[in-house]
Amino acid sequence: MPGLYERYQAVSERIAQAAQRAGRDPGEVRLIAVSKTKPYEMLYELAAAGVLAFGENKVQELDGKAERFEKESGFVPEWHMIGHLQRNKVRVLAERGIRLIHSVDSLRLAEEIEKACARLDKIQPVLIEVNIGQEESKSGVRLEDAPALAASVSALPHLRLEGLMCVAPAVDDPELVRPCFRAMRALRDELSEKYPSCRELSMGMTGDFEIAVEEGATMVRVGSAIFGARDYSLGDHAG
Ligand SMILES: *Cc1c(COP(=O)(O)O)cnc(C)c1O
Repeated sequence: MPGLYERYQAVSERIAQAAQRAGRDPGEVRLIAVSKTKPYEMLYELAAAGVLAFGENKVQELDGKAERFEKESGFVPEWHMIGHLQRNKVRVLAERGIRLIHSVDSLRLAEEIEKACARLDKIQPVLIEVNIGQEESKSGVRLEDAPALAASVSALPHLRLEGLMCVAPAVDDPELVRPCFRAMRALRDELSEKYPSCRELSMGMTGDFEIAVEEGATMVRVGSAIFGARDYSLGDHAG
């Protein structure tokens, strides 16, 4: 069994190869290690090897791990909130200070972030999450509603719209989600003409990140291929 950092490097290498296949510069793609449900010690091991971008999907878990990094290590990771965000958790996240919220999917949530960040006098970079597969079980706005939300978010002074995010449908053959990634890219291209800061495309997970990179992802969020399968039976981690 290769070590944690070896697995991270293997994913990086596959990203670089996918980028090259598509004629892209591998440096355009950022790998976010999705560490949800995994213990602090594993994150620390990666941080010690130079990996400092982590994705979490629960505010409490993110906050707890960030606090341990602050108190027990010399590392300052950048944190990515990738999960569905409840409005009553926004303040904790704003106070913690995180690199990017990937999962803005309603104006009410955006306004809550605006309120919290105005109070702290800071600007929060965000992505709009699009439910690209139109799945009942998933969060995110519909593709056709994304431009209106982008306009509203861009008008909020303490938010900076940096791009779009999606979780593609889980399918056996990742080729099937290529059209989803293409549609995301087309939407990003359209929005970035109006909103120049809207440049990022957060898409691709363990099962489909190479296709996402071929189709223009600038951030991929990979968990299991780095950390191994998640065990939800031990804690209260849903999702
Ligand atoms: C868990 C999760 C990931 C990573 O999933 P893997 O399949 O383990 O790579 C990526 N994005 C989101 C939003 C997630 O919740």
